[in-house]
Amino acid sequence: DGGKRPDYLAGLNPEQTEAVETLEGPVLVLAGAGTGKTRVLTTRIAHILNTGRAFPSQILAVTFTNKAAREMKERIALLVGGAVEGMPWLGTFHSIGVKLLRRHGELVGLSSGFTILDTDDVVRLIKQLIQAEGLDDKRWPAKQFAGMIDTWKNKGLGPADIPEGDARAFANGRGRDLYFAYQNRLSTLNACDFGDLLMHPIAIFRKNPDLLKEYHGRFRYILVDEYQDTNTAQYMWLRLLAQRTKGEPQNVCCVGDDDQSIYGWRGAEVDNILRFEKDFPGAKVIKLERNYRSTEHILGAAAHLIAHNEGRLGKTLFTDRADPDDVKVQVHASWDSEEEARAIGEEIEQLQRNKHLLNDMAILVRASFQMREFEDRFVTLGLNYRVIGGPRFYERLEIRDAMAYFRLVAQPADDLAFERIINTPKRGLGDTTVRALHDYARARDIPMLAAAADIIETDELKPKARKALFDVIQSFRRWQELLENTPHTELAEQILEESGYTDMWKNDKSAEAPGRLENLKELIRSMESFESMRGFLEHVSLVMDAETNENLDAVSIMTLHSAKGLEFDTVFLPGWEEGLFPHQRSLDESGRAGLEEERRLAYVGITRAKRRCHIWFVSNRRIHGLWQSTLPSRFLDELPETHVEVAEMEQSYGGYGRGGYGQSRFDKAEPFANSYSTPGWKRAQANKNDATRDNWGSRSGHAVERIGYGESGPKGRTIDGE
Ligand code: ATP
Ligand code: MG
Repeated sequence: DGGKRPDYLAGLNPEQTEAVETLEGPVLVLAGAGTGKTRVLTTRIAHILNTGRAFPSQILAVTFTNKAAREMKERIALLVGGAVEGMPWLGTFHSIGVKLLRRHGELVGLSSGFTILDTDDVVRLIKQLIQAEGLDDKRWPAKQFAGMIDTWKNKGLGPADIPEGDARAFANGRGRDLYFAYQNRLSTLNACDFGDLLMHPIAIFRKNPDLLKEYHGRFRYILVDEYQDTNTAQYMWLRLLAQRTKGEPQNVCCVGDDDQSIYGWRGAEVDNILRFEKDFPGAKVIKLERNYRSTEHILGAAAHLIAHNEGRLGKTLFTDRADPDDVKVQVHASWDSEEEARAIGEEIEQLQRNKHLLNDMAILVRASFQMREFEDRFVTLGLNYRVIGGPRFYERLEIRDAMAYFRLVAQPADDLAFERIINTPKRGLGDTTVRALHDYARARDIPMLAAAADIIETDELKPKARKALFDVIQSFRRWQELLENTPHTELAEQILEESGYTDMWKNDKSAEAPGRLENLKELIRSMESFESMRGFLEHVSLVMDAETNENLDAVSIMTLHSAKGLEFDTVFLPGWEEGLFPHQRSLDESGRAGLEEERRLAYVGITRAKRRCHIWFVSNRRIHGLWQSTLPSRFLDELPETHVEVAEMEQSYGGYGRGGYGQSRFDKAEPFANSYSTPGWKRAQANKNDATRDNWGSRSGHAVERIGYGESGPKGRTIDGE
């Protein structure tokens, strides 16, 4: 140590400094939004490196998204003056899991070049298993079972561990057998799913104490961001690595905020925060209370809202960012989502005229379907935007087909890829051929591509199919030979040309075809930043959001879930209506707990804003082509008067009357006033937490068509009388 105090420590407050400098032993930083938790982690890493306590490769740092990992790397480089030689173990739980499996996969029966299946592959695979068991796949949908497996894996449960009740719940008690069969099939395919990226490392470490010990020695410091959203499997994984033999210090530092736990639906366990102190005795718990991000109005609104939740650990938050120019949180109403998008577009253009950067603005939606409206509008306006996390580029049909070709070239045992493209484009290799290949492969326990090469030597297939298959196999052999020596982008292009895949879309007369061809071009372009086909395939398996152009000034559009940890000067929060936000599904499936998670999501949304926060609700939404009237979100009623103001009503909105509103205060203002001091302020308690409330998700009785909708629109609501 010694020497002068480095610059990067100078700006920290005393609690932050303590969190950065307490390097020995377990540390838990529990603090609200914008208090500098992530900054503490970053600075801590810089401090470790700068004081020579560890090499970059001896630090294990877990972030929630790949984007966050990239940003953290950049910031660390800035803090230590750019001298960091990479940080090989900085990433998400999943990406670190991949890395461990690439090294030690053989310990769980995976050989090098194994495939990581995406959800779609998993569902196809399970469907095959269900059919092979002679079960009705309509009665027992593969998708449902895929969800069950995912849930089990999030809890760290393998086929042998699942509770009796759970096992019985699917396929007349055959759930466990199916789960076993699924895992067997995966290992035959030399593949794993996302859950296995956690499960396999856990198994590897448990079965190989010496190896675990080696990693204990390697990882001198362990750090975890967004700790409140770890699931049980992640926690098990972390504990294995962080709990060393007695007596040795466990240099593990986790930072989190229970109020921002928003992945309960995906198995996150906020209780992991409470377990930390038990599992890591002597842990130092540090609280940060000063918020550096937001204005007093934004923070006040968020704090008041989240106070409606019951299950909280409780924290204090303050800011001294109080400027007389600070604006209150603005609530706006629009007629429908089209108008909402138009109004937000205008607001953005206004800000732009006042020299604000688009990069500093974000639209955070509750459900990804909401994005389309904004995308359409922004294309019309010529406003640059980027979709972060949303409906992903790599999930598009043509991209998946192309990827299947690439996968099969790089990983010839990838049967799912084989099945996906063997008859795409059409080559006369229909179901009969595929079934014959399938049986042949299963009987000999070999991959389908290998089976295909064998089967054409026999007379099992009709001459035409045999010829077609022969051609395909020749092509794959050629591409495989090129894999090592041809630049991978060139090869990729060649594959798509020679396979006839590009031509298939060129000959396609549908409206989407040109877009698909553009996407394929974009796919090739996106490969350029990778060194090899394999590196690229791995990247896609992890579905990063690398397709965004970081250099462009653009508004970000994303879901509230993917906005975690981020911050923007201006944040737009559209769609604050009952049924959409809080989302009906959460309420139906998880009741009070679901509502509280929705409220945390609202808290996350508001606290992303540094200076300006605009909340929107519309009075009509089109669901499945039908117009339905909506109620303003109950969360709007939970915002404090002092920090919020209702903006002028949108002009076109005034013409329609406001039939859709009930007892919300947003209904009673007449005309829509710039204050909250109107009667009818509090929504009737009866409306709160009423699981049976009528809303846009179920109000088919009020559905009206767009045409002819006007003064006589949906008036009144059956719910109010209940
Ligand atoms: P979240 O809960 O949303 O993830 P967080 O607790 O991780 O928030 P950070 O993102 O680390 O908070 O910090 C919020 C903002 O405050 C950042 O812009 C950060 O640079 C700034 N900040 C944090 N600490 C300080 C400080 N001591 N001085 C000045 N700015 C700070
Ligand atoms: Mg953070």
